[in-house]
Amino acid sequence: ARGRGHTELFDESMGRDAQRHLDLENQLRHDVESGSGALSVAFQPVVDPASGHVLGVEALARWNCERYGAVPPEEFIAIAEDSDLIHTLGRTVLRTALEHTAWWQSLHPAFEVAVNVSPVQLQRPGFAAEVQRLLAQTRVSPQHLCLEVTEGVLLEANEVSSANLRALHEAGVELAVDDFGSGYSSLAQLRRFQVGKLKADRSFVTDAPILRAVADLGAALGVRVLAEGVETAEQQRALVELGYPQAQGYLWARPQPADAITDLLRSRQQV
Ligand code: C2E
Ligand code: CA
Ligand code: CA
Ligand code: CA
Repeated sequence: ARGRGHTELFDESMGRDAQRHLDLENQLRHDVESGSGALSVAFQPVVDPASGHVLGVEALARWNCERYGAVPPEEFIAIAEDSDLIHTLGRTVLRTALEHTAWWQSLHPAFEVAVNVSPVQLQRPGFAAEVQRLLAQTRVSPQHLCLEVTEGVLLEANEVSSANLRALHEAGVELAVDDFGSGYSSLAQLRRFQVGKLKADRSFVTDAPILRAVADLGAALGVRVLAEGVETAEQQRALVELGYPQAQGYLWARPQPADAITDLLRSRQQV
């Protein structure tokens, strides 16, 4: 159609992918802005690997798209980040997590909640103030909230994100480095941003020497450590031997609806 000498590479699958992306973005915008029940939050217990006692949860966003069904978080979070929907979506996840946590703390006073934060959210000047406002509204103490960021956030920190991280630290909110070891954060950055927790990347759960190195680093820096993606009793034993105080994984529990966490806390507080 564009005449001789003009070639374009295009096949049907590219068309389908682009169409899916567009559909997802439009539907996500609708669901985020209307506060529809299609978006929800699942909670995965964080446990003491030695006893199985529940210490808290990590909040994980879920989206059941009308057209495509359950969309993986990696996919819709990326779409939300590219379209500015992440601010509203992130706020909704945080508010939901804090509202449930206020209630869970009446069953388990030391209960902690971890919420993932996108680099894009940290680039908004009002982010720290908004977190503090939500804490005040839900009456959850900042000491019981942990915000998880990836190493890239520390590496690419600018004035705005640094100011947000500083304000949150001063307010008493803990900062965790998620997927630790998969990126390029430096010891200097862990110090500078007063990181409180290292979450060893899931790919290391089968690698005892690396887990030991992360535990030693945590001890040297005075930072707590957590191992993610624990699926077998053998992995659990290794973590107990290495003295990991916290762990998460399918071995104990999958991410689940808030009601299931309430039941767990009412019954045994142990998984
Ligand atoms: P993440 O923060 O590293 O979350 C842990 C992921 O590992 C979750 O995947 C969880 O379901 C999965 N997982 C937990 N235990 C096991 C296990 O034993 N084995 C295996 N194979 N996987 C396990 P999920 O829920 O699909 O989330 C994927 C990623 O999406 C998260 O990785 C996080 O980066 C992002 N994400 C999810 N919710 C949010 C959110 O509210 N905000 C932001 N910014 N990102 C989010
Ligand atoms: Ca996380
Ligand atoms: Ca992780
Ligand atoms: Ca991740």
